Amino acid sequence: MATAVTMKDYRVNAYPSTWCPGCGDFGVVAATQRALANLGIPPHEVVAVTGIGCSGKFNYYLGAYAFNSMHGRSIPVAQAIKIANKDLTVIAAGGDGDGYGIGVGHFVHACRRNIDITYIVMDNHIYGLTTGQTSPTSDKGFVTKTTPYGAAEYPIRPLSLALASGCGFIAQGFSGEVKHLQGLIEAAIQHKGFALVNVFSPCVTFNKVQTYDWWRDNLVNLDEDETYDPTDRAAAFQKMTETDGVVRGIIYREERKHYQEELPNYDPNPLVEQDLSQPIKDREKLLAPFM
Ligand code: SF4
Ligand code: MG
Repeated sequence: MATAVTMKDYRVNAYPSTWCPGCGDFGVVAATQRALANLGIPPHEVVAVTGIGCSGKFNYYLGAYAFNSMHGRSIPVAQAIKIANKDLTVIAAGGDGDGYGIGVGHFVHACRRNIDITYIVMDNHIYGLTTGQTSPTSDKGFVTKTTPYGAAEYPIRPLSLALASGCGFIAQGFSGEVKHLQGLIEAAIQHKGFALVNVFSPCVTFNKVQTYDWWRDNLVNLDEDETYDPTDRAAAFQKMTETDGVVRGIIYREERKHYQEELPNYDPNPLVEQDLSQPIKDREKLLAPFM
């Protein structure tokens, strides 16, 4: 009989955390560990891929397989892992600078490509690791050391961008509400296709505007809106416009085939278990036009 998976299975005691005390990213790791344990997924069946930034340490502390890629490149690495072994639970994780700045091209194409991975973004509206510069989600007018007179640019709206790019699952949570965030991450992992969970995750050291209290005071709770239908794409766009994206809950979900199911030669077995050898005559036919 299989033994139950618990939070203890995901505990990492090998080294201390280097995140600042109170950093929102602690809540994101805790919610992910709880979600994986609650879904009964053992650590050896999970791979978490990160990029660069404070968020890049997410998988140091998760307690599963980990791959630390380059800045903004967690998504292509995660997609490749899922293509090679679809039986793994694959999580890509990063920050707002990592995912919506350097990696935004990968993000947009992952939305439309729909490979079955979960993408968790720790969105603190700032570059934390490099000690506090404006990021793609910083508000217009936001004052930092690089923008002493206030940011001149409008921020990216990641949820609207995901909707416009064909993302089939979009949720947003807050790292100060771990239990609620756990539910969103569970739903994202269970969704068959690319799933985005954007998390407002305060940088307590460099962002003195969007603090825990600020999010508690301003977040609109979609769960309390009984008229909201997350399968209605037009309504999701409208809600994002009305609230400026400052909401928490499941914003949009759509059932459709994921990338591998769309392929004409789809084989339900993981690639690592398939016989990829070609009969000689087929290989010769394939090569003939080039000979
Ligand atoms: Fe967290 Fe900000 Fe400290 Fe980085 S600098 S660990 S984002 S609080
Ligand atoms: Mg950031």
